[in-house]
Amino acid sequence: MKNTFFIWLIAAILIPCTLLSQEKAPVIGLSATYESGQNNVPNTYIISVRKAGGIPVILPVTDDPAIIARMVESIDGLILTGGEDVDPLLWYGEEPLPAMGGIVPVRDFFDIHLTRAAVEAGIPVLGICRGEQVLNVAFGGTLYQDIPSQVKRKTPVKHRQNAPREYGTHTITVISGTTLYGILKDVLEKDKTYRVNSYHHQAVKDVAPGFVVSALARDGIVEAIEMKDNPHVLGVQFHPEGPVSQGDDTLLPLFRYLVRSCR
Ligand code: MN
Repeated sequence: MKNTFFIWLIAAILIPCTLLSQEKAPVIGLSATYESGQNNVPNTYIISVRKAGGIPVILPVTDDPAIIARMVESIDGLILTGGEDVDPLLWYGEEPLPAMGGIVPVRDFFDIHLTRAAVEAGIPVLGICRGEQVLNVAFGGTLYQDIPSQVKRKTPVKHRQNAPREYGTHTITVISGTTLYGILKDVLEKDKTYRVNSYHHQAVKDVAPGFVVSALARDGIVEAIEMKDNPHVLGVQFHPEGPVSQGDDTLLPLFRYLVRSCR
């Protein structure tokens, strides 16, 4: 009789402990690109989320705020993926310059409302390339519509590289004291620089209120931003999923940070 009691007592302690230690992997929503009637997310992002221990789910574009709200309730973290230019007139009040690229109005609406809803709900966000620009615009920042025609430097940097996706072509300097610096400090060179890939012709111009710059290219172009009061909202202008999906895990800490922030 006594033995049975102790067996039940031990079971009552051990079973809940075991269940608690088996944390569920966080669900990471990935904003889809929207063209030719299809919602797509490149596999590079999906591989990177899985490598970091997250469960990737594709979030299809919608212009319905109620659906966006339910999507945010269903995810633990959010990655804003790369893509087209953001409509300058609608979202930051500038007439389009001749060198502006293609825009997808419904995707702008979706991404910007999704971003605001996710941040409001306290969900960790990682914006990549267009995703970083969307993060900036969603909170009141502006963009260079086209770096080559708007930013004149004695020594310009090529931001639209002609090289493999996993290959870094230009240098960034990560700013000490930022969250990004904390994430990447072990992989940076002694002078706080790192080589990144670059596939953009737009960039952050005026940083959104409440955000700070966390990395710069040699020509002064913003390569990363983050929210001042929320260390789980980050944006990078480069594409970490390029190398990570190709087996170079140097930038995997960015995805691991997002997944860890969900817990
Ligand atoms: Mn760049």
